[in-house]
Amino acid sequence: MTVKTKIKQLSDLLEEYNYQYYVLDNPSVPDGEYDRIFQQLLKLEQDNPELLSPNSPTQKVGGTALTKFEQVTHQQPMLSLDNVFEQQSLVDFMQRAQDKSSQPEIAFCVEPKLDGLAASIIYQNGELIQAATRGDGQVGENVTENVKTIANLPLKLRGENIPPLLEVRGEVFMLIDGFNKLNDNLIKANEKPFVNPRNAAAGSLRQLDSKIAAKRPLAFYCYAVGVFEGELANSQYERMQQLKGWGLPISTEVKRVIGSENCQAYYQNIQDKRPNLGYAIDGVVYKVDDIALQQTLGFVARAPRWATAYKFPAEEAVTEVENVEFQVGRTGAITPVAKLKPIFVGGVTVSNATLHNKDEIERLDIRIGDQVVVRRAGDVIPQVARVLLERRDTEKVKSIEFPSRCPVCGSNVERIEGEAIIRCAGGLYCEAQRKEAIKHFASRKALDIDGLGNKLVEQLVDQKLIADPAQLFSLTAHQLSSLPRMGDVSAKKLIHSLQTSKKTTLARFLYSLGIREVGEATANNLAVHFKTIEAIEKASVDDLKTVSDVGEIVAKHIYYFFRQEHNIEVVARLIEAGIHWPALEEKQEEEQPLLGQTFVITGSFSNMSRTDIKTALQALGAKVAGSVSKKTSTVIAGEAAGSKLTKAEELGVAIMDEEALLALLDKQ
Ligand code: NAD
Repeated sequence: MTVKTKIKQLSDLLEEYNYQYYVLDNPSVPDGEYDRIFQQLLKLEQDNPELLSPNSPTQKVGGTALTKFEQVTHQQPMLSLDNVFEQQSLVDFMQRAQDKSSQPEIAFCVEPKLDGLAASIIYQNGELIQAATRGDGQVGENVTENVKTIANLPLKLRGENIPPLLEVRGEVFMLIDGFNKLNDNLIKANEKPFVNPRNAAAGSLRQLDSKIAAKRPLAFYCYAVGVFEGELANSQYERMQQLKGWGLPISTEVKRVIGSENCQAYYQNIQDKRPNLGYAIDGVVYKVDDIALQQTLGFVARAPRWATAYKFPAEEAVTEVENVEFQVGRTGAITPVAKLKPIFVGGVTVSNATLHNKDEIERLDIRIGDQVVVRRAGDVIPQVARVLLERRDTEKVKSIEFPSRCPVCGSNVERIEGEAIIRCAGGLYCEAQRKEAIKHFASRKALDIDGLGNKLVEQLVDQKLIADPAQLFSLTAHQLSSLPRMGDVSAKKLIHSLQTSKKTTLARFLYSLGIREVGEATANNLAVHFKTIEAIEKASVDDLKTVSDVGEIVAKHIYYFFRQEHNIEVVARLIEAGIHWPALEEKQEEEQPLLGQTFVITGSFSNMSRTDIKTALQALGAKVAGSVSKKTSTVIAGEAAGSKLTKAEELGVAIMDEEALLALLDKQ
């Protein structure tokens, strides 16, 4: 293909994506994919300047004003922003600005890059008289009535020295909570949900009926001044403070910094805060603070030279499903896993994504060979968000067939009524389940056997050295050191940690057995209630149901676990091997002084692990939750506690440090 044809192909593709995004408010590909193609086109045009057309998507602001709205011609064009994707490009941008200044080091106003849509709002003598979208940058849509319904935007400015004419520019966006509720309601009403909060904001603002817009949870933050009469400060940052003084909403994250290190630290800081901001952002924006220097730097076709956006790694990307494999978990659940063509998303390379179960596969309508959108936000495990059906090659794709026998041991597969998952019926006969059971037994919250990682467990089972957790304790240093990549020293260390792991608690021991749906909290409640393993083994379903948080289903799982001869025998052999725990004294309910209280643990601690703190609090009757809310009684904050501590402070929840916690536990 010639470069010219390639440029035409990429331009056409971007035009099509622009149409779906700006006109229909319904993009078909993630922003990361759009940005990738945009950068590809930009590079080709830079390398072949003779082929650059003034109509190229790289030379224009992307939108179009819909004719169903009255048109508004902007007195000053509304531009887009250039993007950088790595630190060096940011340093280059800063250097270019610095080169035009006589100051030794220039300041930058740094702001979150809000992911909504731009609006221009004009105040005359302090009253909101007109609001418009960006449109193609020259002509936008008159959305005054809709903008007037935005809750945090004043219809009248307040304070002193209000300019007789003031055009503010900023972003209309949707709060994430509101977006989720809106989509839930749309789904319930059998209507199509919005792809993301940006498109929901755009679709809501561009409604002809302002009553609909009024019901949507829209918000606005200012980030610039357009035309104005009168005097304004000569700095971007100070102008933002002036706007704030007149009652206009400004993001609390707007700061002024000097130097590239501080710019980088700001990026990091905002990236950390991103999950808790309550609204979507897709990067940060750096703007030359001095307005006179901004004017010297001027503009290129579609963006100012004095500002740039540094985007966060995309949380969504497009890739291909190369295959689907079935993994067998600890309890026999067979999970389909999509094997993906490796893709960089959310800051890491992803090559697997769980497809959960049959229902999810049907919901996604996914086939092998499909192009899919993979999403990885924060530390959340990667998910297939949707299938790009329009890119499906029906000749090439293959449906996903569920196995009728366990892919590991060949046992029958059962689908239990009311459950979406299928299970291997092989139990511990199945090598996969055996491996997972032993991995769980050795894991940190269970017996915490140092040096016994997942790979090693797999080797031990593959080499037939062990078949259940109890056999771990008969391993010899000699056997271990014969394994590949296992020296004498590591073998001895492992034997030592197997010895030390024998001293445990009843709660940990119960948890380590891997009984279905018995997590740490349930194991702890069982231990506190029954005091001995014999009592638990003997308990009837009704006895078990009297334990807090144990319902019919969990009670049955526990009951049946201890009715299997094999399990009873493994428990006996474990105890024979020397596993022991301190006897639990008789404890009445009233001796659970923290009953009814909910704790949240955050940060790191020097004297106890978080798991041990949790177990200790639960033993005193407390609930331990993962997130802070009004219902939280106390937050235990260790070193470097982050957003949970901030939230506790905001909500006025009691906060306890490590010392106070130790004192409390000591007292009990
Ligand atoms: P942009 O979103 O990259 O940057 C410019 C915009 O950022 C401004 O117009 C403004 O609305 C916004 N912004 C947010 N915070 C700001 C701040 N503090 N200061 C200044 N501006 C701020 O550019 P764009 O031209 O609006 O849109 C292009 C982008 O849209 C692409 O990079 C892509 O991510 C996305 N897009 C996606 C598709 C798709 O099909 N998925 C199609 C078209 C565009």
